[in-house]
Amino acid sequence: MNPVNLLDFDLDGLAAYCEGLGEKRFRAVQLFRWIHQKGAADFTQMSDLAKSLRDKLAGAAVIRPLSMLSEQASADGTIKWLFDVGAGDAVETVFIPEDDRGTLCISSQAGCAVGCRFCSTGHQGFSRNLSTGEIVAQLWHAEHHLRQRLKLAAGERAIDNVVMMGMGEPLQNYAALVPALRTMLDDHGYGLSRRRVTVSTSGVVPMIERLRTDCPVALAVSLHAPNDPLRDQLVPLNKKYPLAELLASCARYLDAAPRDFITFEYCMLDGVNDTPEHARELLALVAGPRAAHPVPCKFNLIPFNPFPASGLKRSARERVTAFAKVLQDAGVVTTVRKTRGDDIDAACGQLAGEVQDRTRANERLTRPVIRIAEAPSTTSKRGSPS
Ligand code: SF4
Repeated sequence: MNPVNLLDFDLDGLAAYCEGLGEKRFRAVQLFRWIHQKGAADFTQMSDLAKSLRDKLAGAAVIRPLSMLSEQASADGTIKWLFDVGAGDAVETVFIPEDDRGTLCISSQAGCAVGCRFCSTGHQGFSRNLSTGEIVAQLWHAEHHLRQRLKLAAGERAIDNVVMMGMGEPLQNYAALVPALRTMLDDHGYGLSRRRVTVSTSGVVPMIERLRTDCPVALAVSLHAPNDPLRDQLVPLNKKYPLAELLASCARYLDAAPRDFITFEYCMLDGVNDTPEHARELLALVAGPRAAHPVPCKFNLIPFNPFPASGLKRSARERVTAFAKVLQDAGVVTTVRKTRGDDIDAACGQLAGEVQDRTRANERLTRPVIRIAEAPSTTSKRGSPS
């Protein structure tokens, strides 16, 4: 029988597993702390754990790290790891150091089935969901590796901000995601603040609803277009969950969210979604129908990171500035994301890993890219949410 990977468990799951071994919950807490707080992978190291439990675990359980294929360090301090997850699939994890915090960008799937046009992962297609253990192992590796590398003092942590913005749509891997989030938040695990764990979604509305109840953390939504006809083309999931539904779901999420705003991500694509008119349409969108149901939000404008198959170009700096000004003048906090790790292809939207595509995404994405001149009217066939 395959040994159980203890990284697959949040604390309640580990307590249930230990109970099955005839052990009390406090033993599970000790074990959990050894694994996540001290980075131990060897039961013999766990000196305060009862010898009887260590004997039971030996052979029956493991703490399974991901197998690292490569590590690249950018001149700006960004580090990208490529991990082998078997069967020809590999996923990427990125550490982004900033003055006031260390952010880890984690992958949730090998590839992604959503197929956003501007996203390198989307063009790779989809292979499979990662397990909870494979999601948590990215944080486990990064935190404990960086503590040594950065020579941090005992009690200092390397990562205090996690964004589920790597490869994959996390809300399409919900069952594995939630225990992973709980492990990140648990005081006996990584003890991260709910405000500093962000799930980024392209808009899986039913799962936004569930997350609100099960494990509310900060929410970022990949918007990228102010109307349905354009978003249908850039983010195909929009055909299933159009903007009006998505915005209503965001408004409801805020009832339980640890932050009082939603972050909207907006990738700036030259000649596609980057005019002042698009920005004004966005303002109307987040104001809600007849400005009755506004969604408190911030915009994060992302300079597109071009890759050959996309057929898209990055918006010029002046265009991004003009777009941001329309939003800012209306009182909406708007930032332009600094590109980090460009030199190692670790910037947003560049993560591609290696994926055995089982969805033929590339075939779907070879259709010509929409340009403004060809764009449909901004009045949606479903009725513009603005
Ligand atoms: S942007 Fe996110 S949801 Fe869209 S294809 Fe890329 S990884 Fe998937």
